[in-house]
Amino acid sequence: MVGILALQGGFASHAAVFASLGEDTREVRRAEELAGCDRLVIPGGESTVLTKLLASGDGPGLRRAIAEFARERPVMGTCAGLIMLAQPLDDERVEPLALLPARVERNAWGRQTESFRGPVTLDFGNARDDRGGIPDGEPYLATFIRAPRIVETGDGASVLARLASGEPVMIRAGKLLGLTFHPELTPEDPRIHRYFLSIR
Ligand code: GLN
Repeated sequence: MVGILALQGGFASHAAVFASLGEDTREVRRAEELAGCDRLVIPGGESTVLTKLLASGDGPGLRRAIAEFARERPVMGTCAGLIMLAQPLDDERVEPLALLPARVERNAWGRQTESFRGPVTLDFGNARDDRGGIPDGEPYLATFIRAPRIVETGDGASVLARLASGEPVMIRAGKLLGLTFHPELTPEDPRIHRYFLSIR
């Protein structure tokens, strides 16, 4: 069962991609809903809003549960989800979980009008899921929406996708994945979700 943090942002589109792969999902809004999930997606949205929602009502308990969960189980953060998993530069409005060894700069491509779609190259090594090897030879068309940039990676982080410029846009450390783009918006090409499911 894949948990999808459903406080705000693009959770429904992630669920649709997992459904196309025959994978069950559960929307997670409270710590109890995380129990029973074997992996978690933190979708894109707005990291300042996620910070606020994780600080009020049931938020603090959920925040602790996510931090605990991520010590042992796979978590994929996309866009705002990456920002929450990593360490944003100089931004007091975001209180990240700071679990991924990477520094990211929010909104680093500019405003909404600078959002773009572009090809990225993947490097999945010999990753396999239940369907077999996950092909990484063909470019992947990634959608960047007010995206962050990964400006520094620390020990234990490896790069799984890059723009043509060489800039990293997807990293992995242990069982944690962080992406600056929105893989749920390329549902016809579910390789990123397959890769996430291949992490055990
Ligand atoms: N700019 C947003 C933030 O800082 C992220 C945008 C997104 O998730 N598409 O949280």
